[in-house]
Amino acid sequence: MTPEKFEEDSATLYRFIKTYCDNKHTQSPKLESSLCFECDHVLNYAIQRLKECPHEIKPSCRKCPSPCYEKSMWKKMAQIMMYSGMRLGLTKLRKMLFK
Ligand SMILES: [Zn+2]
Repeated sequence: MTPEKFEEDSATLYRFIKTYCDNKHTQSPKLESSLCFECDHVLNYAIQRLKECPHEIKPSCRKCPSPCYEKSMWKKMAQIMMYSGMRLGLTKLRKMLFK
């Protein structure tokens, strides 16, 4: 993965997770990242996975031959993606994970 692609994909992840957190976790205290503790953890996890993705051209995670997400994290991401995807009308993250 090129650094540009990585930057772009991390920015997309942040945008999706922030949208979700802004709407769903209004009562939770926010960290420096403007996310609550839980969402900040999800973001860091997702970025780490992205960074360590061994594929030159990232396949969608669903079709990946070597999935790297833990099941519980995957479920959380799928939830965030569906919620924010609808709100933002963006299909980008969906493509990244599901294509
Ligand atoms: Zn949150």
